[in-house]
Amino acid sequence: MISVGKTLISDDIKESFFLCHLEKCKGACCVEGDLGAPLEEEELSIIDAIYPVVKPYLSQEGKKAIDTQGCHLLDEEGDYSTTTIGGKECSFAVYDDNGILKCGFEKAFLDGKTTFRKPLSCHLYPIRVTKYDDYDALNYDQWKICADACVLGESMNLPLYKFLKESLIRKYGEQWYLELCAAIENPRIQAS
Ligand code: SF4
Repeated sequence: MISVGKTLISDDIKESFFLCHLEKCKGACCVEGDLGAPLEEEELSIIDAIYPVVKPYLSQEGKKAIDTQGCHLLDEEGDYSTTTIGGKECSFAVYDDNGILKCGFEKAFLDGKTTFRKPLSCHLYPIRVTKYDDYDALNYDQWKICADACVLGESMNLPLYKFLKESLIRKYGEQWYLELCAAIENPRIQAS
């Protein structure tokens, strides 16, 4: 376990390699699972506000799902997530010409239409954050749909925490990320 500021980071985040292999997985994380993308409460109003701009990037099915269910829902455990198309794809996911699921939020962002890249939980995946009163716990959510990403990451020598550099900085800031790198790469200096 690594401790940085008010976060505890599991050792497998330090030890694992990762690089999404979209040609193999086809963006399966946008369709697998029971719910859509987990959302932070502060993301709800952002998503509602930018929906008119993101809408043209979505599939007919996605727009229909949002028309009937809204952009997000609250589950029985009190957690928010994006709505889905019939309990499958996230309503904001769209297939490209190669059958790969892409994020509608990200498409709008990359076109310069918004400043919201995608929900933080998607940006941070496969790291999941659990909030406690005094700290956040960061764990590696190992899922078989990402098996090819582990192989590709290892062949490219890309550690998971470097693959997620941008999203970790988005969540915790540059200084925190520098401290995480130092704690992983120079553990003796950190300890002394
Ligand atoms: S997180 Fe996993 S399923 Fe999602 S795009 Fe990356 S490798 Fe594919």
